[in-house]
Amino acid sequence: IPAVELRHVNKYYGSFHALKDIELSVTKGEKIVVCGPSGSGKSTMIRTINQLEEHQSGEILIHGDEIYADAHNIELLRRDVGMVFQHFNLFPHMTILENCTLAPVLARKESQAEAETHAMQYLEKVRIADQAQKYPGQLSGGQQQRVAIARALCMKPDILLFDEPTSALDPEMIGEVLDVMETLAKEGMTMICVTHEMGFAKRVADRVIFMDAGQIVEEADPISFFENP
Ligand code: ADP
Ligand code: ADP
Repeated sequence: IPAVELRHVNKYYGSFHALKDIELSVTKGEKIVVCGPSGSGKSTMIRTINQLEEHQSGEILIHGDEIYADAHNIELLRRDVGMVFQHFNLFPHMTILENCTLAPVLARKESQAEAETHAMQYLEKVRIADQAQKYPGQLSGGQQQRVAIARALCMKPDILLFDEPTSALDPEMIGEVLDVMETLAKEGMTMICVTHEMGFAKRVADRVIFMDAGQIVEEADPISFFENP
C-alpha cells in the first residue's frame, strides 16, 4: 500500500484551476523532491495532502485510507502526516519546548511530562535542546526551522511534508536544516519536499517531480533528471 496516493486530484481557488488531475503514488520510505516554477502548484499540492487546502475532486489516500475533510479525520491525518513550512510557523509567545509539547498533549493525549521528555529527545536530535526555554524570536531562522522539524517529529508522523523549508533562510543557515532533513531521510522517513535545493535533491531524492501550471509534467530519478535538464 502506498504511504501517500493522489488519484485524479483537482483543486480550484474559485475559478482558478490550481491542481489538474494530479496522480502520484509515494511508497513507504520514499523521498520525493517537487520542483517547478513559482505558481505551478507545488505548495498547493502538499497543502492539499494534509488538507490545509481542500480538493474538489479525486481522492487522496494515506496508507490506503481515503482522507475526508472532516474534523475527526483531519485530526487522525495530522498524526500521520507532519508538515514543515517556509516561515517556520512557530507560536511566538510560547517557548521552544511549549511549541513542541502543545500538539502531543492536545491531540495525542500525552501527559505534559511525557510530552516534554519526548520533545527534549527530538530537540536534541536537531541539536537545539539547549535553547528549549527560549522563545522563537530569540533564535536564528535556521534554529527556528530545526525547532519546527522537531515539533513535527513530536507527533510521531510517518510522513513529512516540507514546503520550501530553506527558502526563507540566510544562505549560511541552509546547510544545518538540510543536514537534519538528510538524517531523517537516512532513517527511512517518507518525505515529500518542495525545494529548490538541487544538491539535496541529488543526494536524497528517490524521485524528482516537476510541476508546471498545476500539472505534474515530468517525473524522473534524480540522476537522469540532472543529466537531462
Ligand atoms: P508554488 O508553490 O508552485 O509557487 P502555489 O501552490 O503557491 O504555487 O500556487 C499555485 C497557484 O495558485 C498560483 O497561481 C497562486 O497564485 C494560486 N494560489 C495559491 N494559493 C491561493 C489562494 N489561497 N487563493 C487563490 N489563489 C491561490
Ligand atoms: P509561499 O512562497 O510561502 O508559497 P505565497 O506568497 O505563495 O507564499 O502564499 C502565501 C499565502 O498566500 C498562502 O497561504 C497562499 O495560499 C496564499 N496565496 C497565494 N497566492 C494567492 C492568490 N493569488 N490569492 C490569494 N491567496 C494567495
